[in-house]
Amino acid sequence: MNILVAGAGGFIGGHLVSRLISEGHQVRAVDKKALGDWYQIHPKAENLVLDLSLKAEAYKSTENVEWVFNLAADMGGMGFIEANKALCMLSSLINTHLLMGSVENKVKRYFFSSSACVYASWHQQTSVDIALKEDDAYPAEPEDGYGWEKLFGERMCRHFSEDFGLEVRIARYHNVYGPHGTYDGGREKAPAAACRKVHELATGAASKIQIWGDGNQVRSFTYITDCIDGTLKLMNSEYSMPLNIGSAESITIQQLYDIALKAADVSQAEFEYDFTAPQGVRGRSSENTLCRETLGWAPSVAIDEGIRLTYAWISQELNSRNNLKI
Ligand code: NAD
Repeated sequence: MNILVAGAGGFIGGHLVSRLISEGHQVRAVDKKALGDWYQIHPKAENLVLDLSLKAEAYKSTENVEWVFNLAADMGGMGFIEANKALCMLSSLINTHLLMGSVENKVKRYFFSSSACVYASWHQQTSVDIALKEDDAYPAEPEDGYGWEKLFGERMCRHFSEDFGLEVRIARYHNVYGPHGTYDGGREKAPAAACRKVHELATGAASKIQIWGDGNQVRSFTYITDCIDGTLKLMNSEYSMPLNIGSAESITIQQLYDIALKAADVSQAEFEYDFTAPQGVRGRSSENTLCRETLGWAPSVAIDEGIRLTYAWISQELNSRNNLKI
């Protein structure tokens, strides 16, 4: 098939292009970042630098493709989305123009990457009973900015399907992590930040580890291979409503750091807790009954294993960056 991956220079997009190429598809990989800033570049793909928030560039990207994966968005971890609500909402221009281009160019199937941030905040105020099922998004009170953009994007996909007959698939990703993503600079998410901070401790670049909040916030984290497997299973299914693609293995942020320390073979660490930093909701995890019923599958990579692989990649990156400086 001919397939467009929008946001291919990003973390999930880069892994998806890799998988699609290995399965023999022709891939058009598009991102607005300069090619040198893409996390992965696959020479077998048609790699294009385009701004998909612009109608003409979104239309051009959707020409002569059968499937569209929209993974393009201005996003980051809690530190980024709390401080950049307007920027996050501007991603609705990308989805709008890609949907319009897909109808115009008779695309067969359209994928939208939504998020656990669409879930109503009152389901997430404690660290017990935190598994979020698809119905918990309404009545709506999503994460301000980023979550509203995702909820609106989901709704837009639904109405493009109802009114124009475009086949849509919508995943609600829960905290995806793994190699070839961002680990510093302000957009990184908790698992990558934990690996970076532990690496700094292990190499003597830092004497203690700073955690945002008290460390008792509960989350589930989805390893990238599970994310890609779930994305492709959903895209190949006949299910057109939003579906959780997320691990159900929940841990506290403190436990996440303990797992990263184990991956680095560090037995002791001093922690400092920053109560002024963004902490997000109190508890959030993925409820996977619908995912299992619909796809006959659910994420399975254990957090210890995922962090072991992620830590290995991030510490290698940081080591080679430091060697370059010497
Ligand atoms: P990412 O930031 O690594 O990748 C997004 C890519 O989109 C970036 O490379 C960026 O340059 C590109 N982009 C932004 N604006 C663009 C534009 N106007 N035109 C073309 N490209 C543009 O993020 P990711 O982690 O790979 O996330 C991919 C998708 O999954 C996003 O929609 C994100 O909101 C969603 N999601 C991710 C997670 C996660 O934990 N990573 C969780 C929930 C949802």
